Amino acid sequence: MPRPIEALIHTRALSQNLQRARQAAPDARVWAVVKANAYGHGIEHVYEGLRGADGFALLDLAEAERVRRLGWRGPILLLEGTFEARDLELCSRLNLWHAVHCDEQISWLAAHKTQVPHRVFLKMNSGMNRLGFRRDAFRAAWARLNALPQVDEISLMTHFSDADTAAGITQPLADFEAATADLPGERSVGNSAATLRHAADARVAADWVRPGIMLYGSAPDYPEHDIAHWQLQPTMTLRSRLIAVQALHPGDRVGYGSAFVADAPMRLGVVACGYADGYPRLCPTGTPVLVDGVRTRTLGRVSMDMITVDLEPVPQAAPGSEVTLWGEGPGGSRLPIDEVARTAGTLGYELMCALAPRVPVRTVD
Ligand SMILES: *Cc1c(COP(=O)(O)O)cnc(C)c1O
Repeated sequence: MPRPIEALIHTRALSQNLQRARQAAPDARVWAVVKANAYGHGIEHVYEGLRGADGFALLDLAEAERVRRLGWRGPILLLEGTFEARDLELCSRLNLWHAVHCDEQISWLAAHKTQVPHRVFLKMNSGMNRLGFRRDAFRAAWARLNALPQVDEISLMTHFSDADTAAGITQPLADFEAATADLPGERSVGNSAATLRHAADARVAADWVRPGIMLYGSAPDYPEHDIAHWQLQPTMTLRSRLIAVQALHPGDRVGYGSAFVADAPMRLGVVACGYADGYPRLCPTGTPVLVDGVRTRTLGRVSMDMITVDLEPVPQAAPGSEVTLWGEGPGGSRLPIDEVARTAGTLGYELMCALAPRVPVRTVD
């Protein structure tokens, strides 16, 4: 028998979360962001659930090829554009739209031989200072692109640093508006946080939104809001089973470093899941976990292949009992990935992206 751990990808939840993005910005077209192998879910595993999107956005050219191989003929956007001049050949061959964020990318385009002009998304740096032209250089970049026969339509985009916090998007959005005021072309500004929190602003809801994390059942502004608040569904379940049960006496220690010591008689379960599966080693004693759908907590340190859990709330638990590390548990139980991430001092993003290759993945419903 294989080791009992597995990840389930929930197709219906993916399409429901996509619907939520549409509902938030009903007049916008939706890029489903599937970078980083669909946030760790697997592009092939999410395709069915997200194919109702208007396009797929990602940044790895090999991933763009995988999306085309699945049969997708609609738009694909490279969020970071090309990494070297010859990437443009693949863009031409696969009809990829691409972001343009620096002068080098424009020079590569100017030297590119193509029959079919490219659709590009010119990116403005609205304060994050990673990619994009600064406000005062934006128009010159636009004019340079606009003069190229290799370029078809030019769309305008930016990305927010603080859409998930109270600081919000007011200033970067105003800067973007100022820089693009009388330029033609479609706009795209909203990630998940902006789409959920600020889509009442028509400038955010036009013309393309770019939700990522919300599609995968994690709240972009957790813990201020959770997925129940935003009506999002978990799309990844990581589950395993108990492989042993121990009866502890007072004073008994648990795991590496003896990080947990029992102060009373208690039952402990050993789960076939560890940091080599992508479960964060930094999860301390007390991290929530479900055993047979009942909420309990981890005890002691996370090992490479095992974690240990408190069975006090689940007296019937025995080897073979189902353990939900995050996602959907038996009997309608649920443990949002954001809660686990928080105890490890990280985000749902990092946990889902870190799902280890050794965990078998299966698509359900
Ligand atoms: C990753 C990414 C997104 C999606 O962000 P989420 O916070 O996951 O919604 C949108 N736009 C760009 C440019 C990105 O890189």
